[in-house]
Amino acid sequence: MSLVLWMAVRGRLSTRDRIHKYDPRAVTTCVLCNYHLESHSHLFFECSFSRAIWTQLLNYCRSPWNGLCWNAFIAWASSHWRGDNPIIVTKKLYLRVAVYHIWRERNCRIFEGTKKTISVVAHSIIDTIRCRLSSINLKDHPLIDLNWNVNAN
Ligand SMILES: [Zn+2]
Repeated sequence: MSLVLWMAVRGRLSTRDRIHKYDPRAVTTCVLCNYHLESHSHLFFECSFSRAIWTQLLNYCRSPWNGLCWNAFIAWASSHWRGDNPIIVTKKLYLRVAVYHIWRERNCRIFEGTKKTISVVAHSIIDTIRCRLSSINLKDHPLIDLNWNVNAN
């Protein structure tokens, strides 16, 4: 999961816009929305599929959408999400898990021909986050419970 985020932040995943540079015959359309050019920025933030997932996640943790594009968000998060404060750790976890699941759904659609709904992917993300957070002691950090809703059903 961390490797996917590391590569996504550096723009190194094999998105269709990158593949097209080496193979002009390659399909460039995003497989999640079947409309726009697939780039890192589109795939993880601008795509209607991804944006719907982020909206569900942000609603789940009662946090507003910051309106940033992918590159601006990564730059912002890199400068603001520092240290090992449990709230920061939780936010990083949300980003890591969401990017991983969006990338996995994209790959499943391309290579396996399977297709999950926005709701199924969003719930997979939340389940994964909940499982990971179960190992963090939240007793001293009630804000996580309030703002990130990790103990909700
Ligand atoms: Zn798309």
